[in-house]
This record gives sequence, C-alpha cells and structure tokens, in this order.
Amino acid sequence: MKKIIAVDGPAGAGKSTVSKIVAAKLGYTYIDTGAMYRAVGFECNAQCVMRNAQLTEDFINEITRDIDIKLDAEGKVFVNGEEVTKKIRTPEVSKLASDVSKFDFVRKKLTDLQRKMAAQGKVIMDGRDIGTVVLPDADLKIFLTASIEERARRRFDELSAKGQAVELSAIEKEIAARDKQDSERKIAPLKKADDAILLDTTNLSVEEVVNKILDLAR
Ligand code: C5P
Repeated sequence: MKKIIAVDGPAGAGKSTVSKIVAAKLGYTYIDTGAMYRAVGFECNAQCVMRNAQLTEDFINEITRDIDIKLDAEGKVFVNGEEVTKKIRTPEVSKLASDVSKFDFVRKKLTDLQRKMAAQGKVIMDGRDIGTVVLPDADLKIFLTASIEERARRRFDELSAKGQAVELSAIEKEIAARDKQDSERKIAPLKKADDAILLDTTNLSVEEVVNKILDLAR
C-alpha cells in the first residue's frame, strides 16, 4: 500500500472531494494545502483592513513570519487561534490565496509545515506543487484535471449549495485567471510531475475517480 499520496491539479478538478473520500477509505490523514494558502491570504487581508495598511510584499512577509495555521482532523482551519473554515471559502479569498502564494517566504513557511505534517506517513495531500516540490518522493502522484467548463460548473454547484450568489461565467473567468497565475508563477508553479498519473475527470463520477485512485494506491 502506498503511504504518501500527492494529488495536484487546477482549481475545481475535484481534488479535495476525492482526496477526502480516499483518506477515509484508507484510514489516512487528508491534508488540504490550498486551505493553508487561503488562511494566509485571509489573514493578510484581515490585518491589512484592521491596520488600514496596504497589502504590500513587506506587509505579507510580516504577517506570514508569525502566522500560526492549524488544520484539525475534521478539516477545520484555524489562523492564530481563530476558526476560519467557512470564511476562507469565498472567491475573494481564492484570489488572495493565489496572490500571496507567489512569494517565496510564504511558500517556504507552508512547504516546511506541510512536510512536517506528512512525516508521519499515511497521508493524502492535495495542492498544486505537492508532487513536484513538497513531496517529490511521494509513493503515488496523481494529477487531476477536467475541462474548464466542467470545473466551473462544479464550483458553481458547490457555492450555490452553500447559498452563495454566484454567476457561472464569473466563476469560469475567476478559475481561468487563477490557473494562469498559478501556472505562470516562478516558484513552484502548478505543473504535473513527470511521474504523476494524469486523470481527466471531466466525464467521470466522484466514485469512479475515487476507485481509480484506490486501485492505484493498492
Ligand atoms: O486548492 P485551492 O483552490 O483551495 O487553493 C487556493 C490557492 O492556493 C491556489 O489557487 C494556489 O494559488 C494556492 N496553492 C498553492 N499551492 C498549493 C495549494 C494551493 O499555491 N499547494
């Protein structure tokens, strides 16, 4: 059985949905690294508003230096002791996460933390650079993708179900812009690792994707 599973891919490809189920079936810990970047983006913005400051690189560096991020076993996210689980799931925080994720000091802080979290083994970690940078020796690497239309539709359904008023075309634009920014950044861009297995989920159900990953893990 593979002990460390890395799942990367663009926004809305279904990484967190399937990774959570695979983790539960294998008795593994699921680690959502996107939530950690979201937490940094959220906190930088909140501090910025509170102090009436500009969201500059220096300001982000100052906030990141002392930030304390925790993910609990139920998937709750805490920043400096405050629970932000729901607050980080907005389109505004998606953009903030992508904006702060390009800085080397943010990536280093979170990459170190992610490696510590994975050290215990029996983990499935999802993100953008897990197979390429964070855990290059992972036992199994998956690169999940789907068409932009399908990914936008999934995100739309997810946000609508939570009662958020969103437009499908706006989501598609947001996802495309974020993927471009994530793929083109200099440090740890969104990229398939050479040894990752590509899974296009456009026409697959969640169950089908989960079963494929379970087969590969076994
Ligand atoms: O996965 P999620 O959409 O929650 O990630 C939010 C953002 O965090 C991404 O668009 C990306 O900019 C950043 N991220 C990253 N590296 C990761 C995970 C997420 O740069 N490993």
